[in-house]
Amino acid sequence: MNLSAEDRKVILDSIRDIKDFPKEGIVFKDITTLLNNKEAFQTLMNHLEDRYKSYDLDYVAGIDSRGFIFGAALADRLKIGFVPVRKKGKLPSTTVCEKYELEYGFDEVEIHLDAFPKKNARVLLIDDLIATGGTANAAAKLVKNIKADLVEVCFLLNLKFLDGDKKVAEHAPVYSVIDI
Ligand code: AMP
Repeated sequence: MNLSAEDRKVILDSIRDIKDFPKEGIVFKDITTLLNNKEAFQTLMNHLEDRYKSYDLDYVAGIDSRGFIFGAALADRLKIGFVPVRKKGKLPSTTVCEKYELEYGFDEVEIHLDAFPKKNARVLLIDDLIATGGTANAAAKLVKNIKADLVEVCFLLNLKFLDGDKKVAEHAPVYSVIDI
């Protein structure tokens, strides 16, 4: 299920670069302009549905917060459940959590202990973008810690030069729609 050059262009052209956000030196990939572009959003979701419809998945887990948008839309297309992986302190019931290192300091992500009611659930983890891989690596550990089968980790964009995908690939295969 390869993305055609034409579809790649439609998706890539819909994402805008915002320089020096949230701080100087960062080029922020803004996907709000993909979401409000129905052609680009549908092109992306058609591609993800095509790829994952044969994976026999039980759940899509999305990473806080842009992973929720694509993850929930994909889960609905695949007619399966959606599970949020959230930043610390947002989930109301019993959670497991995983700490990870940022450029300065630490952050934590959490998942509900009973997030996957089905035993040995087949799970796809998704986020909009992988940079250093710290967030996705911690999220992948969470999914595995609560005994789910992490089938693949998917990103819309991969900042390939940062090698974050290599870290995540220790847990499961990594697929990115577009490498930058
Ligand atoms: P990392 O843990 O370094 O892989 O960072 C991944 C998380 O930070 C994802 O949830 C992204 O949405 C966000 N992120 C990091 N860098 C960027 C960027 N240049 N543009 C947009 N989002 C980013």
